[in-house]
Amino acid sequence: MPLKYSAFSLLFLGTILCGCATPGSGLVRAPAGSLQSPIIDSNISLAEALRKEGPFEFKQRQRLLDVLYYSFDGKIHKGQLVIDERLLGDIREVFRVALENKFPITSVIPISDDRFFKNGKWNEDDQSMLANNTSAFNYRVVTGGKSLSRHAYGFAIDINPVQNPYIKGKVVLPPGAVYDTRKPGTLTRDCPVVKAFIRLGWIWGGNWESLKDYQHFEKIPPL
Ligand SMILES: [Zn+2]
Repeated sequence: MPLKYSAFSLLFLGTILCGCATPGSGLVRAPAGSLQSPIIDSNISLAEALRKEGPFEFKQRQRLLDVLYYSFDGKIHKGQLVIDERLLGDIREVFRVALENKFPITSVIPISDDRFFKNGKWNEDDQSMLANNTSAFNYRVVTGGKSLSRHAYGFAIDINPVQNPYIKGKVVLPPGAVYDTRKPGTLTRDCPVVKAFIRLGWIWGGNWESLKDYQHFEKIPPL
């Protein structure tokens, strides 16, 4: 047998043997960033997600929800959201709509994640906004005020703050953000995500008159 055939035969035989010798090698592993194997943006416990200071009566109704979303890298990611237990169904439905429509979301990471702990304190909202992170429960006061925010109750969610800033007069948060409805990940009246929230009875900060909070949705759940 000429050498080239025997080399070919060995290669062929080797392939077969390799395939037989490794159980399950015929299975194709789902690529990272698919529905079966999403990129993990957050994987903490409820206790960790609630470790920032706050009264027990505010924390006791919060739940940690795993969410899947299409991100700006074109891949499927998995994150976590802390929200009042009575709003879990609404949030599941909105994320289903977002995924179905490939509405890109940068990340969904609870506010008490280490990544938002800076200079010895939970400088969380600023850091989260700058990172374009989507989050819900956060025991804090309203922006520019003293009363408790709906986020303190787990009744509100902020989505893609960089594309959807808070704008009041000259104050823009996060600083330097621009609301440009042509950009992917921007929430507008016609966006399926906004429509889903409105259909479920949520209020959108993009509809407010005195200020615009395009990233913000809130709903006081029925008792
Ligand atoms: Zn908000």
